[in-house]
Amino acid sequence: ASVVGIDVGNASSKIGAARQRGVDVLANEVSNRATPSLISFGQKNRAIGEAAATMQTSNFKNTVGSLKRLLGRTLQDSDVQEHEKKFVNAELVDTKGEVGVKVRFENQERTFSATQLMGMYLGKLRDTAKNELGGAGVSDVVLSVPQWYTDSQRRAMLDAAEIAGLNPLRLINDTTATALGYGITKTDLPEPESPRNVVFCDFGHSSYQVAVVAFSKGQLTVLGTASDRNFGGRDMDIALLHHFAEEFKGKYKIDVLSNPKAIFRLSAGCERLKKVLSANAFAPLNVESLMEDIDASSSLKREDFENLIAPLLEKVTVPLEAALAQAGLSKDEIHSVEMVGGSSRVPSLKERVSAFFGKQLSFTSNQDEAVARGATLACATLSPVFRVRDFAVHDVTAYPIKVTWEKADVDEETELLVFQPNNPVPSTKILTFYRKEPFSLEAHYANPELLPKGINPFLGQFTVKGVKPTASGDHSIVKVKTRLNLHSVLNFEGAYLVEEVEKEEDVPDPNAAQVDGEPPKTIKQKVKKLQRKEDLPTVSGLGTKDASITAELKELEGQMYANDKLVIDTADRKNALEEMIYDQRSKLDGALRPYVQAKEKEQYLAALNAEEEWLYSDEGDEATKSAYVERIEKLQKIGGPIVARFKENELRPKAASALRETL
Ligand code: ATP
Ligand code: MG
Repeated sequence: ASVVGIDVGNASSKIGAARQRGVDVLANEVSNRATPSLISFGQKNRAIGEAAATMQTSNFKNTVGSLKRLLGRTLQDSDVQEHEKKFVNAELVDTKGEVGVKVRFENQERTFSATQLMGMYLGKLRDTAKNELGGAGVSDVVLSVPQWYTDSQRRAMLDAAEIAGLNPLRLINDTTATALGYGITKTDLPEPESPRNVVFCDFGHSSYQVAVVAFSKGQLTVLGTASDRNFGGRDMDIALLHHFAEEFKGKYKIDVLSNPKAIFRLSAGCERLKKVLSANAFAPLNVESLMEDIDASSSLKREDFENLIAPLLEKVTVPLEAALAQAGLSKDEIHSVEMVGGSSRVPSLKERVSAFFGKQLSFTSNQDEAVARGATLACATLSPVFRVRDFAVHDVTAYPIKVTWEKADVDEETELLVFQPNNPVPSTKILTFYRKEPFSLEAHYANPELLPKGINPFLGQFTVKGVKPTASGDHSIVKVKTRLNLHSVLNFEGAYLVEEVEKEEDVPDPNAAQVDGEPPKTIKQKVKKLQRKEDLPTVSGLGTKDASITAELKELEGQMYANDKLVIDTADRKNALEEMIYDQRSKLDGALRPYVQAKEKEQYLAALNAEEEWLYSDEGDEATKSAYVERIEKLQKIGGPIVARFKENELRPKAASALRETL
């Protein structure tokens, strides 16, 4: 079994795997250590990851990104409408409550939910890991998610993993993963009384996350988190895009923003320019055939770039303040500030963060791979396959949760803040109710204003059935177990009756002298105790989807996967046939010549030519895999004896010389 951690990024994902020596970040099929988070729907098959990135220009309307941003959201969400829409070329549609895309796939209009899209993409990452690791494949995995992911987003990620046939041992927050990677290697951490407080800033492609984390020997505790969900490298690219689009209106008399393909080309150019500006004070911009056959060029000074992204820069300190406040720490209690994420290379961002803390920043974690490494270490801790140093991770939830109910005929409140702000995760709480009848509970996020815009604060309902008065007509005592699990997903895990019983117990005898080192002298005493009686039937309405839906989607994914593979195998056999024709024909006049008789040659050549003609006919161009295989075999039957004679003769002298050597 393998131990894998994946940083599911909005621009790209990174896959870590635990090896005997430590964590490796795996390379994909083109030797990149980051795989583009894209899916391109083609006429015959899907291209995912690197293959989708190469399709993007020619098939941009059917190439979809923003996978983690759409996941678990609704079409109406204002985050989706105001932010994501401008980053997605395909049409956004509603798919049974979740946002999805409408694309042209296999020459048909098809819609896929965000959960399906993420499932497809995770399947590709699973294959990449399997190719690198070999063995039976990948199942146990830890996936990273933004700390601001809500219940519905986390559940959608778990569903997507299931569609991809993965078994997520944990959804870990991005910043917590980075913190784990930081802490587990440190041998000089202080005692718990005076922990080392480190701030982690992750500036990614789409969002910006901050965590304040206390480290001491063998453990980390997340003290405070805050983020800006709409602050990332892509927002800088957009600022640049608008700047150059405006410039080109005058300079080339073109309106880039009216042309989606041109927008895509110019955005890519802007991203390149932005990266150059991280290391240089000045950068050129060149975009070939931007639109109307115009090769556009320009340049920008770093200073001007900073003016363009001023609205972003002004927001840098907001999450820093918030996370510190939540942690209850002042700036001078911070030991160091660790910067990760691709956009943490932007000088003006670094300056702002550094100025805020009055400190030099630290770059000791790998900026691009810290999250994947941390997620892998988390997987190793949870999996029996590897032994890792014990390191406890005390994470927290970003959103407090309350439970509400209808007032019964007892003196009681009608709601309770069950999971506090910054509540540890995982965490189990037992609630007590006095009831004579069945009742229902509702779970809500307590502070809806903290949620990503458009996320419904209502989490779900839970009904406890089979409640009756006690034998003496009193209220029954009902306990309800609720848990925020390791994924930060809320569940009601059941309900049971308890009963007050009188029990005889041994208690220390208050009248007898107790002697140190000897067992205490005891007397029997009656005490009242609550005893668990019986489990009650319950109905849970948490989580929106029912299991059969995910199973169906998994099956559909399996079919599409098999089809993709068939399309690729078919192209591969078609190539093989074509290559064979050219190769054999040239060899008939070359290496094979001494071994073939005139008539035989004529026959073989005719067969090769016939296949070539077929291959370039409409039928041969679009044939099935088995048709290509059949034709390859047919040619082999004719050419086989010739090739065999050739081989026999070629090998004989060698065999003879080998014999001489041994004599
Ligand atoms: P997210 O965390 O938002 O889901 P991600 O994890 O995919 O996204 P990263 O890989 O951390 O994002 O960062 C990618 C971003 O970093 C891109 O916007 C990219 O343009 C930007 N970036 C990468 N290198 C540089 C650089 N040298 N200078 C400026 N920006 C850079
Ligand atoms: Mg990231």
